Amino acid sequence: KVLVIGGGFVAFDAARTALRGAAEPAPGGIHEAVDAARLAVRAGAEEVHIASLESFAEMPVLRSVQGHEEFEEAQKEGVVFHPQRGPKRFIGQRGKVREVEFIGVKRTYDDNGRFAPIYDNDFVERMQVDSVILAIGQQTDLSFIKSSDGIDLTPSGLLKIDPKTLTTTSEGIFAGGDAAFGPRNIIDSVANGKRAALSIDEFLRGKSATSYFDLTVEKIPTRRFTRPEDFEQIERQAPPTIDLNRRTGISEVEVGYTEEQARRQSERCLACHIQTIYNAEQCVMCNRCVDVCPEYCLKLVPLSELALDDALKQRLLEHYNVDPFMPASAMLKDDDTCIRCGLCALRCPTDAMTMEVFYYEEKERVKR
Ligand code: SF4
Ligand code: SF4
Repeated sequence: KVLVIGGGFVAFDAARTALRGAAEPAPGGIHEAVDAARLAVRAGAEEVHIASLESFAEMPVLRSVQGHEEFEEAQKEGVVFHPQRGPKRFIGQRGKVREVEFIGVKRTYDDNGRFAPIYDNDFVERMQVDSVILAIGQQTDLSFIKSSDGIDLTPSGLLKIDPKTLTTTSEGIFAGGDAAFGPRNIIDSVANGKRAALSIDEFLRGKSATSYFDLTVEKIPTRRFTRPEDFEQIERQAPPTIDLNRRTGISEVEVGYTEEQARRQSERCLACHIQTIYNAEQCVMCNRCVDVCPEYCLKLVPLSELALDDALKQRLLEHYNVDPFMPASAMLKDDDTCIRCGLCALRCPTDAMTMEVFYYEEKERVKR
């Protein structure tokens, strides 16, 4: 009987490696607890339990669709969950853990979402176990850095760096990733690696380079811009999985999409590289784009209703050559809620609203 105490990061990587018998990339947080528990079942454990401080409603794993899929797969494989349990002590016999004593947890996060568990000492529970996997916390081990190295840390214990060049306070030493920025996703760390490599190259060659973005914008002919019907309502396609009875050892549980599933999944893309572009000079303020927008993200409002300071208002009037004594309007758009359906452009009678595609490319300019 294996108990996984979940919610943290570090000790778990080792546990997963031991369970699998081979290294596998391990994500952070309670995902790891779920992964490790499922692996323990597949590796031959008869019973695997996960105990977490969080209630189901608080569990990070249950905040995403993928997390729900993960959770359901773990349940199917027989993992038993014990939310709102705070491990109080391990009870051992002849050097081996035999029982874990828990107290209750009333809540794990405060109203601001900060980790601040409140325990319930009236609730006490013991669980017999043969093995315990701890997944309760991870931080960068910077103990190898000595004060003579000249590498400063921030008050929160991260490496102090210039975020643009990733240089530390010690010449010739560069840093990025979680050690410099705190926990983020792996894409940021990969980007840091690339940025640091460029900085190191500049440092070694004694040249300085500045990076800049090359932006190309192409207008999409309005009637050529189409999206699949109800694309914003297509459900995520869960990756197909192998049968429960084939999930042993290091077998791969999630297999790839079929072509049909992959096409369906890709239809959900909100095409963030495509934007609506509004040309005020061509707008006749007919309000049709506002009326047709399914997400209510467009609004035509009188300029007088906007809380603008006088200087900005003056700049706008001058930029658009508007008589300050004549009524003027502004088009407001909430880009966060736009789903790039293109209906506003399609409805616009004057081509004042268009769909345009943006291509960014990061380039280097080397100064000698
Ligand atoms: S593209 Fe669609 S969602 Fe976005 S502003 Fe236009 S109508 Fe609204
Ligand atoms: S539909 Fe076109 S012309 Fe009419 S308000 Fe919208 S952008 Fe302006």
